Amino acid sequence: MSYDIADAPEDGEVITLADEETGELDVPENPIIPIIHGDGIGTDVGPAAQTVLDAAAEATGRDIAWMRVYAGESARDKYDENLPDETVEAIREHRVAIKGPLTTPVGSGFRSLNVALRQTLDLYANVRPTYHLDGVPSPVKEPGEMDMVSFRENTEDVYAGIEWEAGTDDAEKVREFVEDEMGFDEKIHDGPVGLGLKPISEYGSKRLIRQAIEYALANDRDSVTLVHKGNIMKFTEAAFRDWGYELADEEYGEETITEDELWEEYDGEAPDDKLVVKDRIADNMLQQLLTRTTDYDVLAMPNLNGDYLSDSAGAQIGGLGIAPGINFGDGRALAEPVHGSAPKHAGQDKVNPTAMILSGREMLDYLGWSDAGDLVRDAVEEQIASGRVTYDLERQRDGATKLATSEFADEVVERIHDLA
Ligand code: NAD
Repeated sequence: MSYDIADAPEDGEVITLADEETGELDVPENPIIPIIHGDGIGTDVGPAAQTVLDAAAEATGRDIAWMRVYAGESARDKYDENLPDETVEAIREHRVAIKGPLTTPVGSGFRSLNVALRQTLDLYANVRPTYHLDGVPSPVKEPGEMDMVSFRENTEDVYAGIEWEAGTDDAEKVREFVEDEMGFDEKIHDGPVGLGLKPISEYGSKRLIRQAIEYALANDRDSVTLVHKGNIMKFTEAAFRDWGYELADEEYGEETITEDELWEEYDGEAPDDKLVVKDRIADNMLQQLLTRTTDYDVLAMPNLNGDYLSDSAGAQIGGLGIAPGINFGDGRALAEPVHGSAPKHAGQDKVNPTAMILSGREMLDYLGWSDAGDLVRDAVEEQIASGRVTYDLERQRDGATKLATSEFADEVVERIHDLA
């Protein structure tokens, strides 16, 4: 399609789908990639990440044709709209994109643009890699033990939750239906009550867990852990677990074994060519992130468990300034840092661009450019280890030097040139 409001590049080619079934892409050497810099500190970290990703692409013989698209504040300023259709269509057409954070008003106003984008584009897996970079301060003793990737379901559970406000006629209607027609008498206390419904479907669970297993197999990972609260919620959380095991057995029977089989048939030592599929109850999993970190590799989770677990895991490896993310759909991906728009630091050329840069690294990997992705990671790690860092890391380290966002990015670019 032609675009009126996006800044379309003059050259560059469109990424296409090579295989409908697997979602495999045909990626040219000069792909058009839409970018939303984002609100608040997005105006600082967006351009910084773009510079670093350009350097990594060029150092590996490629060229990214950026297509600047708008959402949030920048879209309101320019076009008086929060999320122009063109922005959504540009991402849909070009298949792989990257965005900075977008502000969501609390309690009122428009709904989250981040959630709207993920849902409109059916980007059903929110993927957060958590690995430690040398030199990043952490609250735990051995942050290097963590090398995990969380797959959080993005479209159902509480994200598709339906709620009825306490004291309303609708809430009373639902109460009557549940008590009188469904036979759950005396389950709900008398008096005003808020009620909620959270859907967890076989379709939604299996496609998320399939992505997690595919990722684990492609990246030579050891295990996929299904994290649920199935001891309490049997028909939603336990069902998620059961569908996971069913999927592993039916679609990946040759490549996977369960934890029971690991002990019964292999004495606890998984053969190199087998991926272990196991499950943990969510509260126990939160403990084990800290106490048995090395036992966990890829995690697959419904929406709410994934929210808590991935933030907690992110804290162990250095927190928001560092934590990258990417959302996967079928043959589509939108990279974005975990952090928000941190309005109080906006436009000061101050915050850490690492999370957005490393989200870009996930995007490069998704394109099949893992050589470029590795360059980005190595250069960022060297830079942080050198002690020349942004304020958030500088204040936690003795003898470190404080750099602006743009200075940090420029030095990472220099390192990419040196490493290439
Ligand atoms: P936030 O992540 O924006 O900021 C919380 C604090 O974390 C900041 O005050 C800052 O101290 C620190 N921080 C965050 N990013 C940093 C960076 N790159 N470098 C250094 N320090 C950093 O969270 P918030 O204040 O809860 O949310 C602000 C806005 O962002 C809200 O409107 C929220 O809805 C939105 N949000 C957007 C996304 C997204 O776009 N995906 C994600 C989370 C929050």
